[in-house]
Amino acid sequence: MTNKYKIQYLFQIAVTFLKLGSIAFGGMPVMISMLEQEFVFNPNIEIQAIGENISPDNAERLVGMVDLVVDCAPLFQERYSMNAEAVRQRKPIIECAMYELEAQITTIIPGETPCLSCLYPEPSSVWKRQFPVFGAVSGMVGCLGAMEAIKVLSQIGEPLKGSLLTCNLREMTFRKFKIYRDHNCSVCGHI
Ligand SMILES: [Zn+2]
Repeated sequence: MTNKYKIQYLFQIAVTFLKLGSIAFGGMPVMISMLEQEFVFNPNIEIQAIGENISPDNAERLVGMVDLVVDCAPLFQERYSMNAEAVRQRKPIIECAMYELEAQITTIIPGETPCLSCLYPEPSSVWKRQFPVFGAVSGMVGCLGAMEAIKVLSQIGEPLKGSLLTCNLREMTFRKFKIYRDHNCSVCGHI
């Protein structure tokens, strides 16, 4: 896949995310449904669908297949697996999160910015795979994540490196906070 198509793909995924965020999937895996929609939008792009949840067992292989990770996994343990492997392989991660009417996003460059474990050393004890979120919120954070990915891949603009963007759609407030590395971080403290 050329860089041109990678960027196009990311944009299309963001649009698809927006479209599918608020509708039922009729029992079909979200990813397959999304990719079918994607093919209708643009049959010229190359898509490789992998029907697996990320874990320590497959993280090395899956992260090894990409130039950049856009993380929107539901569970902390999945995110930790992806974060640890992306840091090990020195690959950038666009870290996206959402809940109800709120979203957060940051861009992780291993060795340069805080990683996920710097920000959240311990997993939440109450977080579950199913959680409430408005489709429009998932669409928004999908577009923001795609924009960050485009910026990192094409080296344009100023990605959210060392910054956390928080979005409160209930109040329509967007804030950007400086975030810092934990030099004792068990994942990235040594690099
Ligand atoms: Zn770290």
